[in-house]
Amino acid sequence: AQPDRYAVIGNPIAHSKSPEIHAQFARQTRQALKYERLLAPLDGFAATVADFVREGGRGMNVTVPFKLEAAALATRLTERAQAAGAVNTLLFEGGEIVGDNTDGVGLVRDIVQNAGVALAGKSVLLLGAGGAARGVILPLLDQQPARLVLANRTPARAQELAAQFAGSGAIEVATFDGIAGAFDVVINATAASLSAEVPQIPPSVFVPHTLAYDMMYGAAPTAFMAFAAAHGAQVRDGLGMLVEQAAESFCRWRGVRPETTEVFAQLRAQLENKE
Ligand code: NDP
Repeated sequence: AQPDRYAVIGNPIAHSKSPEIHAQFARQTRQALKYERLLAPLDGFAATVADFVREGGRGMNVTVPFKLEAAALATRLTERAQAAGAVNTLLFEGGEIVGDNTDGVGLVRDIVQNAGVALAGKSVLLLGAGGAARGVILPLLDQQPARLVLANRTPARAQELAAQFAGSGAIEVATFDGIAGAFDVVINATAASLSAEVPQIPPSVFVPHTLAYDMMYGAAPTAFMAFAAAHGAQVRDGLGMLVEQAAESFCRWRGVRPETTEVFAQLRAQLENKE
């Protein structure tokens, strides 16, 4: 029999680490599958997905800039995909296109299990109000933090986003310069690190036990991580989130949960060797 086919779809896609991650998961769990990169034209997402399904594809990861289109294309959305308004995982089963979002649980798993920082009863500050922030709110609330404060450079966007989750738990909204007090966990879900910028928040949010988490990752600490470390916080980048969201997708597709420790360590070593 031919191995089951999966892919990651995006534009651009050459940089994606997902094929490597899933190949390692497949080897480790002895699953026969093929996982490839699919470059979709910017105006050709739905057609590329349709071709892949016609050729027998079983599932896909979806990355920039197609996560919203993937949500629109799905014939059924999981609760967390609905809350995120975006889809990073597609399953093709019985004529249905199921849309899921594993980014949020990936983040929570990386913080709680890999970093060993419980979120229950803690104070959490979430920076940003774009797709990345939106995708993690429900999984964060599920952990029952004592406080979840949402802050964004453009305050109206944070207000709007918080209002959409009004039924799911209490979210406080703050402006960057209006953030008061210290937090157990500060999560950077802004795109500021992409341009080596730091969200203009008061350094008093950091105390020595604070975990400052940047969803971005790379060879060197991000600007946000450097800022947080300079004010005494513990820091972590988003590489673990990347691996954990992949593991959750793999689990949805194959019904078996892969080990992530080794895969994470290999990716980290690779990133550092590229310096
Ligand atoms: P969006 O474009 O949807 O949102 C951008 C957000 O960043 C907005 O809140 C924007 O604020 C804010 N922002 C941009 N520049 C600055 C700045 N200089 N200072 C302060 N705030 C700023 O992006 P996404 O939400 O899709 O992505 C955000 C980040 O998350 C990306 O860096 C991405 O790489 C990362 N990510 C990582 C994942 C992982 O697996 N590790 C998964 C998903 C995303 P405003 O509203 O004021 O413009």
